[in-house]
Amino acid sequence: MKFYIVAQYLAQIEKESSRLVITKMLSELISKCPKDEISQLILFLQGQLAPPFKSIPLGIGEKLVVQSISLSTGYRSRKVNEQFNLKGDLGLVAEELISKRKQQPLAFKELTLTDVYNAFMKIAKNAGEGSQMRKIRYLAELFNSSKPVEARYIARFSQGDLRVGIGDPTILDALSYIYSGDKSMREMIERAYNLRSDLSLVAKVLFENPNKLKTFQPTPFYPIRPALAERLPNAEEIFKKLGKCYVEGKYDGMRIQIHKKGNVVKIYSRRLDNVTHMFPDVVEATKSLPYTSMIIEGEAIGYDKKKDRFYPFQFTMQRKRKYGINEMKKVIPLHVYLFDVMLINDKNIMDKSYEQRRKVLFDVVPRNHKLFKTPDYIFANSADDIQSFFNKSVRRGLEGIMAKDKDKPYIAGARKFAWIKLKKSYGGLGDTIDAVVLGYYLGKGKRTAFEFGGLLIGTYNTVRGVFESLARVGSGFTEDEMKLLKDYFEKIKVKRKPNNVDSNIKPDFWVVPKFVIVVTADEITVSPMHTCAKEYFKNKKGLALRFPRMISLRSTKGPYDATTSKEVYEMYKMNK
Ligand code: ATP
Repeated sequence: MKFYIVAQYLAQIEKESSRLVITKMLSELISKCPKDEISQLILFLQGQLAPPFKSIPLGIGEKLVVQSISLSTGYRSRKVNEQFNLKGDLGLVAEELISKRKQQPLAFKELTLTDVYNAFMKIAKNAGEGSQMRKIRYLAELFNSSKPVEARYIARFSQGDLRVGIGDPTILDALSYIYSGDKSMREMIERAYNLRSDLSLVAKVLFENPNKLKTFQPTPFYPIRPALAERLPNAEEIFKKLGKCYVEGKYDGMRIQIHKKGNVVKIYSRRLDNVTHMFPDVVEATKSLPYTSMIIEGEAIGYDKKKDRFYPFQFTMQRKRKYGINEMKKVIPLHVYLFDVMLINDKNIMDKSYEQRRKVLFDVVPRNHKLFKTPDYIFANSADDIQSFFNKSVRRGLEGIMAKDKDKPYIAGARKFAWIKLKKSYGGLGDTIDAVVLGYYLGKGKRTAFEFGGLLIGTYNTVRGVFESLARVGSGFTEDEMKLLKDYFEKIKVKRKPNNVDSNIKPDFWVVPKFVIVVTADEITVSPMHTCAKEYFKNKKGLALRFPRMISLRSTKGPYDATTSKEVYEMYKMNK
């Protein structure tokens, strides 16, 4: 497929604001793609060379792109940098400077999608001495053959984001449109995606034979998109919803999905990154479990044996550092609380009830194992049982409880009432919100020094396919954090409101919606200013946070798996 066609479609999509039109345009683009390039197209749209669990990062810094543009166009790096500071978007810089090249390249070759993908793969795999120079040359060669609009998306892809407002949910809809003209096939496509977490593979199989998607089963080394929990305000509501149920302690560590096949073990995070390197102790312990294959899930949490207490989340996360893991293993010994099992000895058990899966799980976890544990639990016969277990769990230093429907299967990739969480209170809301930053404000008074005056944050509306504004957050930041945020947002600021943002409020600068922060507030209120969950209200009102404050810059979530507008609406109803 000619890359020019891809770039032209993207440029059209970028200008469009109607979600329906965007979805249709995208499905038209995808349907034009030949079968053997479909995976590459989907990956290109996602701004990645491979799904996160395959760990093939692009590895291209801004500096490298600046030097490549300079090499290809004849403009000095200083000039390219000036333009970059002005525009805040390497794509627009590349587009403009390539349209006004000072030097014409010797060889011009019309680019195909495969050329572009292969060139980036070559760049990603290039390592060792002199690799920076080679990377610059390969990227410059791509720019040499680029028309200006192609250069825009090549430069943006190098930074992992095409900035056209297309996320996985829109790609899923577009794939469905190709075959049914509407969203009716999305459920079937999404099921396959939930099991394999690789949209490029799903699209490829869909193009070959849509019926084959129905036969997908959980498979080791393809992480399953995690089941998620709903919220309810108290023990009575939980009991009303689930009746007699299992209630487990909620451990505040890091969720891990452990895969084993033969003697190979891999571990994936909640965002489905391959994090095997963080857990050599878990790998060893899993290898010694007597099963030929397995997919199990649990919460890894640092445990202080002397004091018999768990370390806080941030402390456990120090294992993220690649180096010194073996020391970390000694300093932060882990407990892994296994809470679900999806595959055992090649047998898919995701569709079995929780009651049945637990039986398997209890067989899997050896008794008195020093690493693997099962969560404390009760079988609750009443709301009182749930309440007293909650109190006990919080006293023990846990975050709260997870109530589980005994009859439900493992529901991958969805927030359903199979699991319900109840946490100890956070500032009135009963939970924190993972919100996406939509824009930022310049500082006034003391904050002028950092030029940082707070953030406009929002949530993703999965039905409308847009980010909706929820609050302006100005407090909870340290001075260092303000500097850090300002520097980061400077790099992802955009001139116009992105086409996947719905907001009546205009911050000083819009940014590409991709950075997620954790906030809390006193209350969720109805407001004429914000657009969050506006479809539930009349007179163009939406939901807003009262006295919002930032709790952490922890960004373990991506923009599409952060708290959704519907969840905020549910929290609002719950608090009322
Ligand atoms: P979510 O995962 O629901 O999007 P989150 O990442 O902010 O939100 P929480 O809302 O705190 O996490 O709660 C869900 C998480 O609780 C799970 O993803 C899992 O990591 C963790 N967890 C701890 N204990 C358990 C348990 N016993 N059963 C299931 N999950 C548990």
